[in-house]
Amino acid sequence: MPQNLLDLDAHALTAYLTEMGEKPFRAKQLLRWIYQVGEPDFAAMTDIAATLREKLSHCASIVVSDILREELSDDGTRKWLLNVGTGNAVEAVYIPESTRGTLCISSQAGCALDCSFCSTGKQGFNRNLSVAEIIGQLWWANHQLGKNAEGNWAISNVVMMGMGEPLLNFSNTVSALRLMLDDQAYGLSRRRVTVSTSGIVPAMDRLREECPVALAVSLHAPNDALRDKLVPINQKYPLKELLAACRRYLERAPRDFITFEYVMLDGVNDSVQQAHELVRRVADVPCKFNLIPFNPFPQTPYLRSRPDAIARFRDVLMQADIVTTTRKTRGDDIAAACGQLAGQVLDKTKRSRLLHSGEVV
Ligand code: SAH
Ligand code: SF4
Repeated sequence: MPQNLLDLDAHALTAYLTEMGEKPFRAKQLLRWIYQVGEPDFAAMTDIAATLREKLSHCASIVVSDILREELSDDGTRKWLLNVGTGNAVEAVYIPESTRGTLCISSQAGCALDCSFCSTGKQGFNRNLSVAEIIGQLWWANHQLGKNAEGNWAISNVVMMGMGEPLLNFSNTVSALRLMLDDQAYGLSRRRVTVSTSGIVPAMDRLREECPVALAVSLHAPNDALRDKLVPINQKYPLKELLAACRRYLERAPRDFITFEYVMLDGVNDSVQQAHELVRRVADVPCKFNLIPFNPFPQTPYLRSRPDAIARFRDVLMQADIVTTTRKTRGDDIAAACGQLAGQVLDKTKRSRLLHSGEVV
């Protein structure tokens, strides 16, 4: 099997080339071709010696996952379904806005954490994505969307808020983050790259040490009793520990606040009283809140909070001087909104049938 170069961050690529007897600066050249130019063909990399190009064409490759489907929403949101093999697919979603272009990417096929309101969680866990499968989502989206008049790629911001828990696929996520940040590759600022986590406390500490980027934490409840039910990982890392980890993270974070995500579930976590409890709970963590109206999916027992409940909840937070935004639901018509990303949701029989036929629908 050829070595897929998308699997290697700068450090690993340098080691790979050194082992081939090449000079370290070749890694920089290759990174620039692959990520800044977006060139997947070694033959076109004209400033690299012909002998090396020839060698690479035999032992290496630059390949992204097959694209099964592309969908375009009425609001300009685009969703790509990427085949990650054995009947599984993951999704990447592009959200254009006037001042930025954001790509929401996936880190795992499925998710093991089974949050009760999340369709990815309901799908169960299949496997971690490789570095190539993670960074390949950005490579592909940039390739499709192209560059703007200033010569910059369309995607200026990346959020790891697609399928999966990025901090449970730690080393591949960090290598992919390094490629996003590396000046020879995409050169995005740490403030424009956000990891969203359900609160894997030890991994938050590692991320702070190894690759601090902007952090979003999925809070969803003001107390442990409710959070234990909505986000079961809370039973392992309860709120007190989670909020302490947030404070530690801020010591090295590129932004001076944590973004708390809070899904608005009708009659479950959206009362004014719960908003007051939340304000007291997060009092010693500099933070902003992002309220996410629940996005329904088949067979969920939950309903989206009513707009007036969301507004009242927001007002309580704002009165406590917490900057609070309500996330606009984007890409609703193509099931690209938060928590609707189910990839290939297959029941067991269908899954084994697909595995037998080798077919992916
Ligand atoms: N696993 C990570 C990142 C992916 S989920 C995490 O949980 O943070 C990205 C965000 O979408 C999280 O805040 C998650 O709680 C939210 N989400 C999940 N299902 C949702 C749904 N059905 N409606 C709205 N938001 C949802
Ligand atoms: Fe996993 Fe995040 Fe969904 Fe929870 S909300 S099941 S952690 S993807």
